Amino acid sequence: MEYDHILIRFGEIALKGKNRKSFEEQLIRNIRPLLQQFPDVRLQRSYNQLYVVLNGTDYEPIVKKLKTVFGIQSMSVALKSENDIEDMKRVALSAIAMAGAEVKTFKVSARRKFKPFPIDSQQLNRLLGAHILKNYKNIKVDVHEPDVELRVEVKSDGTYFSSLQIQGAGGLPVGSSGKVMLMLSGGIDSPVAGYLAMKRGVTLEAIHFHSPPYTSERAKQKVEDLTNVLANCGVNVQLHVVPFTYIQQEIKRHVPEHYSMTIMRRMMLRIAEKIARKRGALALVTGESLGQVASQTVESMHTINEVTSMPVLRPLISMDKLEIMDIAKKINTYDISIRPYEDCCTIFLPTHPVTKPKVERAIAYEQALDVEKLINKAVETTDMLTFAAEKKMESPVDELF
Ligand code: ATP
Ligand code: MG
Repeated sequence: MEYDHILIRFGEIALKGKNRKSFEEQLIRNIRPLLQQFPDVRLQRSYNQLYVVLNGTDYEPIVKKLKTVFGIQSMSVALKSENDIEDMKRVALSAIAMAGAEVKTFKVSARRKFKPFPIDSQQLNRLLGAHILKNYKNIKVDVHEPDVELRVEVKSDGTYFSSLQIQGAGGLPVGSSGKVMLMLSGGIDSPVAGYLAMKRGVTLEAIHFHSPPYTSERAKQKVEDLTNVLANCGVNVQLHVVPFTYIQQEIKRHVPEHYSMTIMRRMMLRIAEKIARKRGALALVTGESLGQVASQTVESMHTINEVTSMPVLRPLISMDKLEIMDIAKKINTYDISIRPYEDCCTIFLPTHPVTKPKVERAIAYEQALDVEKLINKAVETTDMLTFAAEKKMESPVDELF
């Protein structure tokens, strides 16, 4: 016997009241393309539940793909029976057999969701439990810590038996909230920040500042590869590549060195905001974590943030570097991020950046620059690349949380 269904549980979406329907629909839109390569598989929806009907297809590659989809809390691989006690007994035995020979203890957890069915949950637990004990000699009941919990859900269309629960990625379906602009460097942090933002349902675009010839083509390739990984978690991701050399040279020429980083970040933020507005994004996302480096002190954030009225989301704000690295490894961005090519910031980085920059000083130093003109020129010469979500077929994220 083979598993014939995958039950998909929504988790948090279920709490969304009136919005629930649109959340569910978005989730379905995100799942469908992943199932396209399995011609016999069908996606079915009823009440609280979404099912994948396997029709003979192996469940493992499908579960692997579904584990990357935000909005899925958990999944169960299941066998279906008729709502008939004899058929249910038969399928219960198969479900236990499929749980493996090493199973020594079990427990039945029945839920009669379809009330017209004449046997209630407690009676089902007893009946099915007794039937399993009668047929398998080496197995015992343990209601506290069983090797296998056989979940039995009686629904109007049939009863589902599952002994295998799989954790999903959690979060909300990508596309169920608005659009944000991720400031994506080639480092470890910002791709993780983008991933965590997507986990909460946003659609993502990314912006990257590069400084040729100080930064190489391979540094840009790195950012493209990172964007591709992010596209693998959701829907299409656009990457805006901003030529930043001229601005950095202007800063180097006109701004005292210890403030150059602050001014550079302020310029980045202004340009990011402008492109975000053009693209209909309502917030910026960065990989900043409080206190990690000179530009990430509260004072520094305050002075840099002063140039924009757009919300700046910082999903990593309270995380330690090790925690961030851990997620980066899980989502397959770590190996790309540690490729050794220079970032535009590292090249122009002052040796002693100010850790508590003042807004007034920053504004004063900017008098030496034609800020408006620099921004407009950068925006006009920005390139946009598209990373298609379909590529996620080839490289889904392995394991999430
Ligand atoms: P990351 O690991 O993401 O590079 P970081 O620890 O190196 O972060 P900073 O260099 O202070 O920290 O950068 C802070 C944030 O500013 C980054 O997380 C990113 O969101 C943004 N940022 C930095 N450099 C760039 C860049 N070249 N293009 C786009 N965004 C950038
Ligand atoms: Mg960096």
